[in-house]
Amino acid sequence: MKALENKVAIVTGAARGIGEGIAMKLAEQGAHIAFTYVSEGSAEKVTALQEKLTGFGVKAKAYRSNAGDFGECESFVNDVMKEFGQVDICVNNAGISKDNLLLRMTPESWDDVMQINLKSIFNMTKQVIRPMMKAKSGSIINMSSVIGLMGNAGQSSYAASKAGIIGFSKSVAKELGSRNIRCNVIAPGFVETDMTAYLKEGEQGDKYKAGIPLGRFGTAEDIANVTLFLASDLSAYVTGQVISVDGGLYM
Ligand code: NAD
Repeated sequence: MKALENKVAIVTGAARGIGEGIAMKLAEQGAHIAFTYVSEGSAEKVTALQEKLTGFGVKAKAYRSNAGDFGECESFVNDVMKEFGQVDICVNNAGISKDNLLLRMTPESWDDVMQINLKSIFNMTKQVIRPMMKAKSGSIINMSSVIGLMGNAGQSSYAASKAGIIGFSKSVAKELGSRNIRCNVIAPGFVETDMTAYLKEGEQGDKYKAGIPLGRFGTAEDIANVTLFLASDLSAYVTGQVISVDGGLYM
């Protein structure tokens, strides 16, 4: 039996990068997948992912939904309940960065980062806890970042949003533990995706790599493996935790 057989998982922002890796891993382990995207450019890319997921013998459906918009999250989860009948796992992965030194950071870019990285977690969690409370079970996994733990010059908005996710998640874990709903956080280090493409080139890339004890950038699969652990019953007694998946960068 696969680890997530008969479970339904939501993954936000899954059309590429870490979210795509997570959707693939959870589907491989038997979970039906409802995933969101916003503007992935080509409809073919989203359809291709949907086909790859169904290739694991599970149901998969893509929904265009902005995680930063409360109303869109509400309709998205209602649609998932109609289509799939349950939500067992919610991976809040969608996120952006708009990096700049504080001197140059605009209030608009600060608001965008907060809206998409932090308010999205409130938006989605508020919706999924209803079916989870009824089912007396659920696992919520929120994607923070090593930057939320360490801070970083030029990333004050990103760091604040990712640190906020940690406080939120610990509170939810305390609030809903008695209902058997777990809420944990993953703090990835530098993972090779579109978001970090600019970091890994040349001297700068070598400098970042030199600071990582395991000596390499992470992959989407590294993050997906820990997500699988947190989504499955293997972590049945784990809640309110922040798990760093960063090659030892932060310790
Ligand atoms: P990415 O830019 O490759 O992918 C992000 C995904 O989120 C995209 O599919 C994008 O369309 C989607 N998205 C953006 N805004 C959205 C919105 N409003 N609603 C729904 N979806 C939206 O980035 P990634 O590297 O795969 O990052 C995934 C998550 O992991 C993010 O939360 C990011 O902050 C976090 N993270 C990434 C790294 C890294 O090194 N790549 C490190 C730490 C944390």
